[in-house]
Amino acid sequence: MGWVVANSVPSLSKRERALVTWASVVPDVDGLGIVAEKFTEHSAHPLNWWSEYHHVLGHNLGFAIVVTVAATIAAKRKFATALLVSISFHLHLIADLVGAAGRMATNGRYRTCCHSRTNGN
Ligand SMILES: [Zn+2]
Repeated sequence: MGWVVANSVPSLSKRERALVTWASVVPDVDGLGIVAEKFTEHSAHPLNWWSEYHHVLGHNLGFAIVVTVAATIAAKRKFATALLVSISFHLHLIADLVGAAGRMATNGRYRTCCHSRTNGN
């Protein structure tokens, strides 16, 4: 999806297209906690980084702003790149919501986009 967005403006440089494509996958960097969680799941002190932080740390407005600012600094065509990076990032969030039917179940709670709440069960 990010690659398609990146190529919607053919005049962007390779770097700028790479930044737009990167913005479409970087929200899932918060899923890397699954490695620590799997390695420690049977230990005395398990690290529940994936269960607690996936779809939280990288899937919010603050992280979208950080990604957009970082990409804008790295780009020459700043406005076009910032706009496409922001679109690409948010398409990722929309795809996550559609793919999870708007709910991301974790430990009896569900999260909708940018905040979490208890489901009452
Ligand atoms: Zn995601």
